[in-house]
Amino acid sequence: MKFNFVIPKEKSMALLYMLNGTLMGMHCIFLVFFALNHVTVMTVVNIFSIITYLCNFIVLRKQFLRASSIIVFVEIIVHMFLTILCVGTGSGFQQYYIGCAAVIFFMEYFIQRLEKQPANSLLLCAIDGVCYLTSVYLSWTRGARYTLKPLPTMAMQLFNLFVVFVFISIFLLAIMVKTASFYEGELTRQAEHDRLTGMYNRQYMIEYLTNVEHASDRPAYWLSILDIDDFKKFNDRHGHNCGDYVLCEISRIISMQCRKQVSCRWGGEEFLILGHAGSAPEAAQKEAKELLEMLRREVERHSFVYQNQRLVLTITLGMQVFDDSSSIDEWINSADQKLYIGKSSGKNQLVC
Ligand code: GH3
Ligand code: MG
Ligand code: MG
Repeated sequence: MKFNFVIPKEKSMALLYMLNGTLMGMHCIFLVFFALNHVTVMTVVNIFSIITYLCNFIVLRKQFLRASSIIVFVEIIVHMFLTILCVGTGSGFQQYYIGCAAVIFFMEYFIQRLEKQPANSLLLCAIDGVCYLTSVYLSWTRGARYTLKPLPTMAMQLFNLFVVFVFISIFLLAIMVKTASFYEGELTRQAEHDRLTGMYNRQYMIEYLTNVEHASDRPAYWLSILDIDDFKKFNDRHGHNCGDYVLCEISRIISMQCRKQVSCRWGGEEFLILGHAGSAPEAAQKEAKELLEMLRREVERHSFVYQNQRLVLTITLGMQVFDDSSSIDEWINSADQKLYIGKSSGKNQLVC
């Protein structure tokens, strides 16, 4: 199994399309509201806003993400500025300036991921803030151009409150947090796994072994170091890519055979398998011997087929049951020494 290190581009794009669609839908509601309340300037402005978001779908389709972000930003700022000058702050449109900051961070975050460009979030938020204060100041000092009836004003204020709170604050932030924790999980996975084979890596196993050192049933643990025989010659003869294929195939066999054990790529063409059996060293010794011998035979019998060529390989294993008087390093060294004995006495064998 290999890991997919590619950012889920389609998912990020889908979120940007969804955001654009939602903003367009909101302008349709504003259009009806202003038309019904005879706010002509804002009716016309909203027709332009809807056209802008329709065009923005095309911009997104063409993957001009930075341009799309600027379009959304300018539209929100201009629309809110004009709305507040026209109808004042009573219907709560100024709250969208705060929501706009969330939209900016949301869009810039995904654009940064997709286009690998630095984000302009802080600059855009600063502009957003200046427009917010200026429009509110102007509407207070000059008064609104249109006076809305109390009922529509209250209805619009509730609607705007709801949208800003539920959609922008909760929904967008929830997506951001979910995305961040997804990548956090992915980073942890990458840090613990070997890139080629997908197995756990040496660092993960060392941490795991440290926990075993403190376990109360330490004597029931065994570990084995497994090394592919004559792998250098194999690489020289069949090429490095074929060698990589073999490493993946052997990882797969180990994972299949040792489902209950923890295994890792220890380094190069070596693997480490950690098992736990019964409560006494004898049980661990017996289980390890049977399982590892089966694994050795499985690899020996296996046909590695690479570019229509059938290839055979063998492995040598050294196994050591945990000895309470030794440290983890000494435990690993003992298994390594047994591996060395296996290598120097004919290879393709298990030494316990
Ligand atoms: P022995 O039977 O004594 O273990 O001999 P060997 O040739 O297997 O051991 P040696 O340590 O001399 O060589 C190990 C080889 O493993 C050398 C290196 O090219 C190969 N190797 C290590 N990591 C990788 C890898 O990621 N991919 C491939 N294709 N080969 C690797
Ligand atoms: Mg080796
Ligand atoms: Mg080897």
